[in-house]
Amino acid sequence: MQKYFIDSHLHFDFYPQNDHKSIKQNMQEHNIFAAIIPAIHINNFLTIQKISQKNPAYFYPAYGLHPCFLEARNIQENLSYLDDFLAHNQAIAIGECGLDFYSDIDADLQIKVFLSHIELSNKYKLPLIIHTRKSLEKILQILEKKSPHNFVIHNFSGSDIQLKKIFDLDGFIGIGRSSVYAKALRLQKQLANIPTNRYLLETDAPKDIKTQYSENNPLFIQQVANNLSKIRAVKIEQIVEENIRNSEIFFQHSFT
Ligand SMILES: [Zn+2]
Repeated sequence: MQKYFIDSHLHFDFYPQNDHKSIKQNMQEHNIFAAIIPAIHINNFLTIQKISQKNPAYFYPAYGLHPCFLEARNIQENLSYLDDFLAHNQAIAIGECGLDFYSDIDADLQIKVFLSHIELSNKYKLPLIIHTRKSLEKILQILEKKSPHNFVIHNFSGSDIQLKKIFDLDGFIGIGRSSVYAKALRLQKQLANIPTNRYLLETDAPKDIKTQYSENNPLFIQQVANNLSKIRAVKIEQIVEENIRNSEIFFQHSFT
């Protein structure tokens, strides 16, 4: 297997367990040599842990509470469970967490939980994988006051000013499927001049929650990379190298 693509955001645990082996094999045949699996709820922590333990140096776990799946009644319990889980288990990042003002989960609750994730990020010195929908302004306001160990705005979409703010805060952006859409003109323009050390490639497969795009799969990482190389008019090898280097810096881990 050629060491080519790292997917920084793949919900591999969403696939039926019976398909795991064949999907991984297919990924390897397409030169995808590592992927980060972010959790969305405490209910999938153990599944993700099992997948990463079964596939060491291939799948890497991140644990967190996704804003769309918060349960107001159990929030304190779930946060303590997360804290305890991070204290006793290997993780490469914390997430996915963040704010989603499109969902009907109470905004104050989301903010409170997001702030807890920032604290955990500093406590365990792990980077944050941040989900945002209709909430980037608020996220940036929070990050300006309280900085996590490190962070990536997963599946970035926003204004030039917001993008600059992310980089001013030393953050990363996740470049995913939405960068490929024909209508994503603003994003494509931004990507043409993106700093080479500030991005991670991702698919968010099997589903892009934000766009409800349902035909996503892990192999689309190639399309995302090819598209970026076209936008920037550089060779695909350069994108591959940058993505590996950026992932190693962001996740503080040597994948190669
Ligand atoms: Zn996700």
